[in-house]
Amino acid sequence: AGTIGALGDVLQEPKKNGATGVVYFVDHFFNGSDLLDRLPVGADDHVIFVDTTDEPTTDGVDAYVDQVKQQMDGNVAAVVGVGGGATLDTSKAVSNLLNNPGKAADYQGWDLLPNPGVFKVGIPTLSGTGAEGSRTSVMMNQEKNLKLGMNSDYTVFDRLVLDPDLTASVPRDQYFYTGMDTYIHCIESLAGSYKHAMADAYSHQALSLCRDVFLSDDMQSQENREKLMIASYMGGSAIGNSFVGVVHPFSAGLSMVFHTHHCVGNCIVMNAMDDFYATEVKEFRQMMERQDIPLPENVCGNLTNAQWQDLYDSTVVHEKPLINALGDDFKSILTPDRVREIFARM
Ligand code: NAD
Ligand code: ZN
Repeated sequence: AGTIGALGDVLQEPKKNGATGVVYFVDHFFNGSDLLDRLPVGADDHVIFVDTTDEPTTDGVDAYVDQVKQQMDGNVAAVVGVGGGATLDTSKAVSNLLNNPGKAADYQGWDLLPNPGVFKVGIPTLSGTGAEGSRTSVMMNQEKNLKLGMNSDYTVFDRLVLDPDLTASVPRDQYFYTGMDTYIHCIESLAGSYKHAMADAYSHQALSLCRDVFLSDDMQSQENREKLMIASYMGGSAIGNSFVGVVHPFSAGLSMVFHTHHCVGNCIVMNAMDDFYATEVKEFRQMMERQDIPLPENVCGNLTNAQWQDLYDSTVVHEKPLINALGDDFKSILTPDRVREIFARM
């Protein structure tokens, strides 16, 4: 707690190379809050508030890159992201694009960036996605109707400031949904065929911290916020070294068809995953009950045939995690009827 006070020191290092400006991407929730007084914003620096009502898009990231280029005229020593997964992903992508030609969409995929980005610092204000530890930055490409990350070693933050004071203001439901992303990353990784000792070690430790937090009476106590912040980082590290499983592809389906946000989408899906993760689903429900968290219901009521088809297509397109979870022949398990029946339970 209080480590945000060290940010000024952290930023001395990149300034040694000549550039002096720092651009801060801060979640719009903090616009007008006293967190801004705790950031060492100087005369050469800019603060940009990120509207996180919707998840990041490639067009949105391109617009931020143009704005930074215009306002700072090449004088960028560091990019600092302060927020949840959406803001962290935005700042990672902008940092990369400041040192690489072209647009965000050019780099959606794996290992496409030729140059490292600008020095980047991640400061999570919401725990769970592991975006602070991962090598991806997830963006929606509206033109191609595709949600895909900029996966690269250059997408990893150079430094992190993990300060649990910053998560004190997170609304309860959001805290639970995003925190559960860690739980789900780890159970998916552990149940997959790509598992290995290193990813498993991160997963086991992160799960143990999640159980401490979500089976306790006060999931948002100072101690539990500290635990969940570390769990998130470890969960991100686990998944950065392995793959997710059945939950994330179904959640991506909800996201493509209904624009459901990542973390609440995962929770909706998890509640319908008895066939695949029976023990974990029981524990998930126990945590939800203990924390008295509601879940949206009947999310797939009254769909057209075209929408059912979209749901199916945008789920089974995620071959890597589905092969990890169910094997090469996953389409014989996830038939169109079975997928529809699973969505209908949500
Ligand atoms: P988010 O960044 O979308 O924010 C959710 C809400 O919480 C917003 O309304 C925001 O204003 C609010 N918020 C954030 N911090 C707050 C605070 N301290 N107090 C009060 N409100 C606060 O949420 P998220 O769940 O952390 O991130 C989801 C995003 O992360 C998605 O875009 C998803 O694609 C991405 N993601 C990325 C990775 C990765 O490895 N890069 C992994 C999983 C998910
Ligand atoms: Zn996730």
